Amino acid sequence: MGPGPSCVSDSVYAALARPTIGHLDPFFIEIMDTEKKNLKTIFRTGNELTLPVSGTGSAGMETCFVNLVNPGDKVLILVNGVFGTRMADVAGRLGANATVREFEWGTPVLVDAVREELAKQKFAIVAVVHAETSTGVRNPVEEIGRIVKDHGALYLVDAVTSLGGIDVRMDDWSIDAIYSGTQKCLSCPPGLAPISFSSRAVEKLKARTTKVPNWYLDLSLIMNYWEGSKRAYHHTAPINMVYALYQALYDLLAEGLEKSFARHADAHAYLVAELEKIGLTLLVAPESRLPMLNAVRCPEGIDEAKIRSRLLDEHKIEIGAGLGPLAGKIWRVGLMGHTARHENVDRLITALKHVL
Ligand SMILES: *Cc1c(COP(=O)(O)O)cnc(C)c1O
Repeated sequence: MGPGPSCVSDSVYAALARPTIGHLDPFFIEIMDTEKKNLKTIFRTGNELTLPVSGTGSAGMETCFVNLVNPGDKVLILVNGVFGTRMADVAGRLGANATVREFEWGTPVLVDAVREELAKQKFAIVAVVHAETSTGVRNPVEEIGRIVKDHGALYLVDAVTSLGGIDVRMDDWSIDAIYSGTQKCLSCPPGLAPISFSSRAVEKLKARTTKVPNWYLDLSLIMNYWEGSKRAYHHTAPINMVYALYQALYDLLAEGLEKSFARHADAHAYLVAELEKIGLTLLVAPESRLPMLNAVRCPEGIDEAKIRSRLLDEHKIEIGAGLGPLAGKIWRVGLMGHTARHENVDRLITALKHVL
């Protein structure tokens, strides 16, 4: 019940344990094609370039930036937590001319501030995190998308924690590059990073005059393995992780996206109500709260690290600590994917009452 990895279901574990076949086996290619199709459904996009990158969520972040940033590109990065800060680090390493607009941790990115920044200068890329896992804040990705579209920049969104737990509408929200991870609301072990690029993003990639400065994450090469008739070897696909994600996406679609979002919202509402009964409150204002990541204020005068280690030692429950300016001030309780159930909330509340 921490900020990830989330609990993995038995069906996904069973998929992981199936025999490892070749990465060019026609049966494996069928699995890849279905997985791409299902990822498109879940990202709600028609984008052809939609696939899982080999690596964790951070590899998805790196893939989006490394393929789309040319040295000197003006990039606006909206930061209100650890993962926005990481985006700025990644963009800076690629020689981007990055502008970082910061917002208080625990509060959302302000749409008016984005409008203000875009009025000042022309940006090539605007980047934001949808679900800031370090604080439990949901950023207004849809509203920002409208402004970015008028401005003409490419819109890059981190959907690592949001995908599967709250709605993500890549095409409707004018998102050009998106990445996620398997280990949050997709309830799969860490190891793959689903990404999708719009036709505008693909145009920018194809128009590059210099090579993508990272061979492993170069989508112009990886595409030739995941698409079309060539199926050219690039690197050996992590076969069993591809099975696991196949099963996780299958399970999510079998439940239904709307039902999954409702289950997350319901588990979150139940957690908040139960926490309030024992006098605990949340950091984030109700309208910006994420259902899958709950930032709970630690009560005054308590050794928060001791509470976490007792939860783990005595009750086998893991919750997360606060990071950066929120270290020592909050606990982070994950209700991601398979974890988002009343029975888990009940176990946590019983254990918290005991250790507190
Ligand atoms: C977890 C997370 C990442 C990084 O994913 P890893 O799997 O740890 O590499 C990136 N962005 C957000 C919002 C996350 O929650």
